[in-house]
Amino acid sequence: MALSGYIFDIKKYSVNDGPGIRTTVFLKGCPLVCTWCHNPESQRNEPEEIENCSFRWNLHADHSKKNTVGAKIYTDEVIREIEKDRMFYEESKGGVTFSGGEPMLQLEFLSSVLTECRTRDIHTAIDTTGYAPFSDFEKIYNSTNIFLYDLKLMDDELHYEYCGVSNKLIHENLRKLTERGEKVILRIPVIPTITATEKNISSMIEFISSLKNIREIDLLPFHNTAKSKYERMKRLSKVAELVPPTDDYMNELKNRFSLLNIPVKIGG
Ligand code: SF4
Repeated sequence: MALSGYIFDIKKYSVNDGPGIRTTVFLKGCPLVCTWCHNPESQRNEPEEIENCSFRWNLHADHSKKNTVGAKIYTDEVIREIEKDRMFYEESKGGVTFSGGEPMLQLEFLSSVLTECRTRDIHTAIDTTGYAPFSDFEKIYNSTNIFLYDLKLMDDELHYEYCGVSNKLIHENLRKLTERGEKVILRIPVIPTITATEKNISSMIEFISSLKNIREIDLLPFHNTAKSKYERMKRLSKVAELVPPTDDYMNELKNRFSLLNIPVKIGG
């Protein structure tokens, strides 16, 4: 039986979601509710109506559904979209990234698409919150080239307060995953006053220094481009007034993380 899943976007020619030029497939549903989320339309599992939603790719170009975010899609349909840009992947050493939300929430569907990509020799990346049973990571480990793994807040209470869940499982999974091999790129959102505090940064550096096999660290500066999405979704953005970090601060962080002897990048 053909497998299907819910996605809410496909972004072409992405250069911030892993190596090379990539197609990023965004799957719907997220177990976290981060205060600074710039994809609030990813959080619910099913398609939803959002007024004047012009910000998302629509698979069937069905104008009667122009306010619907999220569409059911079959494995072969996703593969057809991915295959359209094979030439760019080959030239840039890119591939496809599955993001969200949390792509592992739709594990069977994700796994079927990953297996197809593996058969076709297309490089795959999973952009994950890390909040999933480790057995789920094991099921897709061999068909995934890299994991783009989010690390947000080291203090568990703060993680619960700002992301809605405990960080314990996320940190345990990260340790186990890095023990298995060199497949992890860490992604750290730099959110002023929330993740970008001295205490959080130094605990993070200490934690990372205890891990093996981290391939790269990406520091992702906060930006406020989701403001209008929150307005259209009639949701309150709790970070609307936050000012993005300065270039000087980002460079200072880059220097500090570089002391771990792991390649560090600003941006994805
Ligand atoms: S994990 Fe990502 S998609 Fe999910 S709520 Fe947080 S920022 Fe949004």
